[in-house]
Amino acid sequence: MSNYKTETKCIQSGYEPGNGEARVLPIYQSTTFRYTSSEQMGRLFDLEESGYFYTRLQNPTNDAVAAKICDLEGGVAAMLTSSGQAANFYAIMNIVEAGDHIVCASALYGGTYNLYAHTIKKMGVEATFVDPECTQEELDAAFQENTKAVFGETIANPALVVLDLEKFANAAHAHGVPFIVDNTFATPINCRPFEWGADIVTHSTTKYMDGHAACVGGAIVDSGNFDWETHKEKFPGLTTPDETYHGIVYTEKFGKGAYITKATAQLMRDLGSIQSPQNAFLLNIGLETLHLRVPRHCENAVKVAEYLKNHEKVAWVRCPSLSGDKYYDLAQKYMPNGTCGVITFGLKGGRDAAVEMMDRLKMVAIVTHVADARSCVLHPASHTHRQMNDKELVEAGVQPDLIRFSVGIENIEDIIADVEQALR
Ligand SMILES: *Cc1c(COP(=O)(O)O)cnc(C)c1O
Repeated sequence: MSNYKTETKCIQSGYEPGNGEARVLPIYQSTTFRYTSSEQMGRLFDLEESGYFYTRLQNPTNDAVAAKICDLEGGVAAMLTSSGQAANFYAIMNIVEAGDHIVCASALYGGTYNLYAHTIKKMGVEATFVDPECTQEELDAAFQENTKAVFGETIANPALVVLDLEKFANAAHAHGVPFIVDNTFATPINCRPFEWGADIVTHSTTKYMDGHAACVGGAIVDSGNFDWETHKEKFPGLTTPDETYHGIVYTEKFGKGAYITKATAQLMRDLGSIQSPQNAFLLNIGLETLHLRVPRHCENAVKVAEYLKNHEKVAWVRCPSLSGDKYYDLAQKYMPNGTCGVITFGLKGGRDAAVEMMDRLKMVAIVTHVADARSCVLHPASHTHRQMNDKELVEAGVQPDLIRFSVGIENIEDIIADVEQALR
């Protein structure tokens, strides 16, 4: 980890060219890497030596970008994945087996909810979803003998629930399991979950990190803080021999790098959800301005939220940075400089008025995306969360009339003017 400040890390971390080398991170558009000795290549396959041999496992462009994200989060090791979904899948699958169990805060991105509630269930891994505002006793009661991880989002998409990170971290640690946090919406510009006890952070880099809606991607970062060896019997995948690598034990051989090395050497080898080096290159360009874009998104979002709050046709507005919001105090604690550019609101006319208002927007587009430079809206009950029934929607913190507004970095007067004409 470098000692640079965040803004400098956005620009400088991850890639340092040698004399006469490209100043800008090169795209290693190559599936494979050359060796002069067969013996040496063999050692790479045995994880006896580190080096590149096949892009499904590692690529220098991807590694440089992962190192930048790692530095921004203050971790010890990181990897890129093909999407945020892949990141959240790998983050869990790296430490569970059929018969295991995880505890999740129920306010989650719809795709992550499907993944944990339905898809990993078919693989024999059960999830218990807890209300993010549950009491300590309720949270403790969710744990089982076979629980292997706790998962939550710093700011839930789209419920905008700010997670009480310390409460969830303490519960996870009291039960001897790591706390995994999806930090997509806050980004390390506004919140660094490792400072609040999280052990592993995931990202959909598709959102603010890329920031331009140009490429889908994900990342996993390990703080190196969770001691797998102390809870050896819970995590045999990390603490007992891996026969597919001649019996190496990840924690013995790689220490603090064990978790990411296993995810790369085993999950990526077998499941193959790599990010393309082209996308990693674009992601890196996005990261260079993350520290400039995120504050502007937040500033514009608060202004739109204030405007909506005072509008006669608006029933309710959620923006955790706005005083009076249910999560204002938690936001002030965990992300005092800002939350994210996404706000939600409902109209007095309910679900039908929401759909009509969205159709009337001119500049602000209806798209299945959030957190890029362009302002956009989505109606989760008709789009991202449409497979959920009303009970599941409410548990995920999504009202049927909820409009998700991802406030962009256009001029604030133009954004508000568009909203104004649509409401009129
Ligand atoms: C978008 C999103 C994901 C999924 O990421 P993809 O890159 O679309 O696969 C996961 N978590 C959160 C919080 C998201 O917003």
